[in-house]
Amino acid sequence: MTITELPESDDIGRIRESVRRLCETFPAEYWRRLDREHAYPAEFVQALSDAGYLSVLIPEDYGGAGLTLSAAAAILEEVQRAGANGAACHAQMYIMGTLLRHGSEEQKRRYLPAIASGELRLQAFGVTEPTSGTDTSSIKTFARREGGHYVVNGQKVWTSRAEHSDLMLLLARTTPKSEAAGRTEGMSVFIVDMREALGAGMTIKPIRTMMNHSTTEVFFDNVRIPADNLVGEEGRGFRYILSGMNAERILIAAECIGDAKWFIDKASAYAKDRTVFGRPIGQNQGVQFPIARAYAQMRAAELMVRHAASLFERGEKCGEEANLAKMLAAEASWAAAEACVQTHGGFAFAEEYDVERKFRETRLYQVAPISTNLILSYVSEHVLGMPRSY
Ligand SMILES: Cc1cc2nc3c(=O)[nH]c(=O)nc-3n(C[C@H](O)[C@H](O)[C@H](O)COP(=O)(O)OP(=O)(O)OC[C@H]3O[C@@H](n4cnc5c(N)ncnc54)[C@H](O)[C@@H]3O)c2cc1C
Repeated sequence: MTITELPESDDIGRIRESVRRLCETFPAEYWRRLDREHAYPAEFVQALSDAGYLSVLIPEDYGGAGLTLSAAAAILEEVQRAGANGAACHAQMYIMGTLLRHGSEEQKRRYLPAIASGELRLQAFGVTEPTSGTDTSSIKTFARREGGHYVVNGQKVWTSRAEHSDLMLLLARTTPKSEAAGRTEGMSVFIVDMREALGAGMTIKPIRTMMNHSTTEVFFDNVRIPADNLVGEEGRGFRYILSGMNAERILIAAECIGDAKWFIDKASAYAKDRTVFGRPIGQNQGVQFPIARAYAQMRAAELMVRHAASLFERGEKCGEEANLAKMLAAEASWAAAEACVQTHGGFAFAEEYDVERKFRETRLYQVAPISTNLILSYVSEHVLGMPRSY
């Protein structure tokens, strides 16, 4: 590796080192095989769970490590930097924040220690629907109260990891949009125990995608959820989901930084090694400059990720910084991916170099979990005070 770390605490340095060691036990061939088979990295996720990495953000009182967002970001960055794919499990880190902040003490005691120990997985996040897309306020999945239960009907799409999770955090309407006090009112968050719901009205249909992502469609046909599984107050769910977005954006941005470093390391190593016309291709500025430019983009984005994480940890407002970090990091990883492909020439397209796999994987982050346009809309409206565009 040629890229040095920015200054950080010794504790985080040690976490990085141990994540690197864990990732080394899952070599590139492991990821290639899973990619070919579109299979879930069960052993890798188990190893991360066993090492406690997926529960670092759960407070010690509930069985987790109670570490900072910067520590969680370092873990995900290292996973991506090692050529692995944290998308198989990253969501647990940020989904549980909604439960932690808005769940009742009873819910937290019921679920968090079991999530921290790895006994239960909370990796599925059911927000997006086929007809609403980015316009979350237009979701149609409806949870109707019936005695001690809610009865859920509707459909989610792109619910990643649903087949590999015990619990799902579900956003559903509890008041129709037309009758709600405001566009974003009348939605509620539920913890769905999928072990009970499957075969009792819930069906999951995998979606094959250009990268190995274990994403699905989930159908709800009169699925009964105990009323105890409502998180917080009925009708305020959109706010609860929003409150977790900054952590999500910062963590995804850290993954993009990890990807960018992987591509930059890989490209610069190949450029030094590959000889054409009797000299290393990396001696040509046409080959060097795109890699150097991607490095500059990555470092700038990395500073924004660090800045956003430190604001978050101090409990300060960080909506702007978290959004900028996510956008800049996703663009940096894509620039690095492009440079890496171009540097490898034809070999970029051969499976055994891993470049094409990582290239497919990193493209996602300009679209999900939030697309670049929506970040630019946020900045235009909330930072620069221009009129709302939608
Ligand atoms: C692999 C994958 C995994 C995912 N995992 C999950 C998950 O686990 N849980 C979950 O709930 N969702 C998940 N998503 C959904 C993801 O968050 C959405 O795909 C994303 O938010 C965009 O929604 P959409 O695909 O419906 O696009 P649309 O909303 O249809 O938008 C299409 C395009 O139009 C643009 N656009 C739309 N409206 C505007 C506007 N007003 N101004 C400017 N541009 C606009 C968008 O930026 C986008 O580029 C996943 C998606 C993918 C592809």
